[in-house]
Parts: sequence; structure tokens; C-alpha cells
Amino acid sequence: MSNQPPVPVIPNLISQWIGGQPLMHPGLRLQDVYNPATGQVARQVELASVEVVQVAVESAKKAFPAWADTPPIRRARILNKFLALLNEAKDELAAIITQEHGKVFTDAQGEVMRGIDIVEFACGIPQLLKGDFTDQVSTGIDNWTLRQPLGVVAGITPFNFPCMVPCWMFPVALAAGNCFILKPSERDPALSLFMAALLKKAGLPDGVFNVVQGDKVAVDALLEHPDVKAISFVGSTPIAHYIYQRGAELGKRVQALGGAKNHMVVMPDADLDQAVDGLIGAAYGSAGERCMAISVAVLVGDVADKIVPMLAERARALKIKNGMELDAEMGPVITRQALERIEGYIDIGVNEGASLVVDGRGLKVPGHEQGFFTGGSLFDHVTPDMRIYKEEIFGPVLGCVRVNDFNQAVELINAHEFGNGVSCYTRDGNVAREFGRRIQVGMVGINVPIPVPMAWHGFGGWKKSLFGDMHAYGEEGVRFYTKQKSIMQRWPETIAKGAEFVMPTAK
Ligand code: NAD
Repeated sequence: MSNQPPVPVIPNLISQWIGGQPLMHPGLRLQDVYNPATGQVARQVELASVEVVQVAVESAKKAFPAWADTPPIRRARILNKFLALLNEAKDELAAIITQEHGKVFTDAQGEVMRGIDIVEFACGIPQLLKGDFTDQVSTGIDNWTLRQPLGVVAGITPFNFPCMVPCWMFPVALAAGNCFILKPSERDPALSLFMAALLKKAGLPDGVFNVVQGDKVAVDALLEHPDVKAISFVGSTPIAHYIYQRGAELGKRVQALGGAKNHMVVMPDADLDQAVDGLIGAAYGSAGERCMAISVAVLVGDVADKIVPMLAERARALKIKNGMELDAEMGPVITRQALERIEGYIDIGVNEGASLVVDGRGLKVPGHEQGFFTGGSLFDHVTPDMRIYKEEIFGPVLGCVRVNDFNQAVELINAHEFGNGVSCYTRDGNVAREFGRRIQVGMVGINVPIPVPMAWHGFGGWKKSLFGDMHAYGEEGVRFYTKQKSIMQRWPETIAKGAEFVMPTAK
């Protein structure tokens, strides 16, 4: 995985993808897309109007009956071809991510691989769609359940994983027989068209997968459209909550994954070198722009005095550069506004009285002076009443909170409004077990800093990190994109004469 990044050819204008082809719509609003490492506008993206979204939904609706009727194994074969094409193109996809998102190329390669994992999972759809059957539930009667696709479903995705998060959704939705409309982030939209082209090349019928580019206008048009039966959303909590509320009001199925503030507890018996490695990678990897990034270190007992200087040394030494350089450890953040927001939070932390041990503000990377770079920042003596503790900063800022014991660590984390991911570093099996059982967070790591579940386990947080009751991908993903039907059947020979007026029971 240490090959030189290819230089992808990306169109100057990112269009829609409807009915199996890229579609330009002259007259649409346009938005600039940046290369965050240079700070320059790299291209533009069309922002779909309500009418364009309607065309996409029509296209998907038209394609649905034939696709839903296609045997699951034939749908899986198309996904198998897509999987092979993704594997061939994976470095090109990673390079596109680095150019638009800014994360370092090797990290982008990791993102693409985690997306590929889910395509691979979805290839097993014939097994996953097998129904349940009970012979002879009553004399002469059999009962079985099957799962059928919903129809047209939509996925609205954030900027921070332009490959992996869409792959949490569409491979499973398509494999289950739905038609899909992706609305990627307008900040890094290019990859969506590459994936659409690969799906077509793999043999996916036109209209089964569509992309609408855009902002709130496109999202609301999908949300309000009566033919969109389900919405999968991943993004910030206020928007996730809005999508969930409005979608539910309109009778849609919604899974809306929101923001996070992930803690890592370091117990006094932990291997501190391992804990430092875990914290540095999880706090500053992808410039902290991961929903599973660790942004709070919960240091138990005397850990803080030992570990804070170790963390400071490593944070100061981070190799921060253009993510296309192979030895880069951290790239820029997504936009100038994000940079200002993150550095604004550092000002807030200082004013709130936290100790700023490493100040990443104002970093200039030689040769990339206009790039959206900030250094890794480290706070000590953060307390739960501070905004830098309560709010998601979504940047390379790690805050250390000091607690006396394990119980205090658990209470602190359980009181937080977010519950996406959490980690505990310890050598004590009993502590690890208690932590896993008592912690009110959806995804837990024991000596694992970023416990993103594998493709067949499903991803989802608790509390304000997820609205809805089903996690993304895995078997919950299959359930989300299908509805269960129960069929009870008998044949004339076994039907007794006469009408029955009592509730039928097993005979
Ligand atoms: P965002 O909420 O700004 O945008 C997400 C999507 O919503 C985008 O497609 C965007 O176009 C759309 N959108 C933005 N404003 C909207 C509005 N007012 N109405 C309707 N749609 C709107 O999020 P982002 O900045 O792209 O991504 C970062 C956020 O996503 C962070 O909060 C992060 O924690 C979260 N995230 C969560 C998970 C998870 O699994 N829980 C995963 C990745 C990212």
C-alpha cells in the first residue's frame, strides 16, 4: 500500500448521474469545489433543483420493477463485477479522495478498502435474503416470511468519507433489489460519478443507481418526494435530527447517523506507549475529521502527569503536509470555514481556562501557504462544563480530562449527549468487561482506538449519534432496505367446511 498515488483525471464540472449517464443541466446553481491542500478552486459542482431530483426519482422508479424482479444471485453477480472494478481502480479512487477531501493518500486507501468490504458483504445477498419457513403451523397450513425491497431509496452523505459512507448504503440497498439515489456532499462530489460509472460498467441496468449533486434544496426534494421510501443519512446531528423528524412525519423509513464526541479512557495499568500510539492516530488521523475520531482522552489516576508530555511531543512532531506526499501523517481540513471554526474552538478553550499544551493554530505548510492547514492541538485540564468538551469540534484537537477512578470515567462518558464510539486501554480483563457492559455508547473498543465494526456487523452510535433504530450495513442494513412479508398458505383439500367466527388457532 505504499505505491505512488496516481493522478486522476477529474472533470471540471461535476454533474448529476441519472438513467445510467452523466447529465449536465445548464442553468443550475454551481458551487466551487476546492483542493484543500492548495486552497484553490479545483472545479465546480452543479447543485440540483427540485425538478432535477424529480427526474432522478422518475428514472429510479422506472427501473425498479425489473430490478426488484431480478433474482438475488444475478444482482449479486453484478456487484461481484463492481467489486472487481473497484479493486482495480482503488488507488485512483483514493487519489480523488485526497485531492478533494485532503486526507492523506494511505488513509484514503484505507477508506476505499473499508467501502470495498461492504460491497463484498452485499455480494452474499442470496444468503442474507433467505426467508424463514415453518411447515404445518396448523394442520394443512404452512407459514413463511420473506423480505422484499422498498422501492426507491436515497442516501445523503457527509464530506468526510466520500467513498466509504456511500458504500455503507448503496451496495446493500441495490443487492436487496432497491433503486438508489445518492446525494453526496457538495464539498467532495467527484468520487460519486466514478462509482456510478463503475456500476454501469459492471452491468447495472440504467436508472438503478443515480446521483444528484446538491445542497439543502436537493436533500429536501428527496425528503419530500412521495416515491422515496427510505432515507439513509450520515452527517451532523442537527441535520440528522431534522431528516429523521421530517422523514418520519412523511411515513418514510429513516436511519440518520449524527455527530460524535468520542472518549478514550486510559487506565493506570495500561501500556502507555500503546495508549499514546492509539490516541495520536485516532485524534489526528484524517485531521480529526472522522465521526470515530477520539477527541477526549479520559486519564485515570496518575496517568495524566505521565502521558500528557508524551502526547505533546508526538503532536508537535506530526508530519503535516499535502496528503499526496506519501510520508504525510495529517493533511489539511476540508474548507477555510472549517479551519476557522476549529481554530475558533481553540480560542474558546483558552478563554474557558483549559491548558493549551500544543497550539496548532496558524500553521503554514511551506509551498502550500493557502492550504487549509492547522496543526494538531492538545488541551489538558479540560472539564465537562466547557464547550470544547461538550461540542463536536471535528478537527485535530484532543482534550484531556482528568478523573480519579474508573467509575468516574464511566459516569463522565455516559452523561455526554453523544454516544458514537469509545475506547478503553487497560490490561485488566475485569475492567474491560465492566466497561463494555456499562458504557452507554454504540461502538466500543478495548485497546482498539477506532472500533469501526466490520462489514457484517453494522455501524451505529447511541443517543444523539443515531436517530432511528437500525444501524448502517451488516444484517441491520439488509433489514432497513427490505420489508418483511408473512405468507400463510393452505390448499382446498385441507379446508374444513363452514365459516369460522373465532380467532383461528393451531389445529
Ligand atoms: P453535514 O450535516 O453538514 O452534511 C451532511 C449532508 O447533509 C451533506 O450531504 C449536506 O449536503 C447535507 N446538508 C447540509 N446542510 C443541510 C441542511 N440544512 N438541510 C438538508 N441537508 C443538509 O455534515 P458534514 O459536515 O458533511 O459531515 C461532518 C459531520 O458528519 C460530523 O458531525 C460527523 O460526526 C458526522 N458524521 C457522522 C458519522 C456517523 O456515522 N455517525 C459518519 C461520518 C460523519
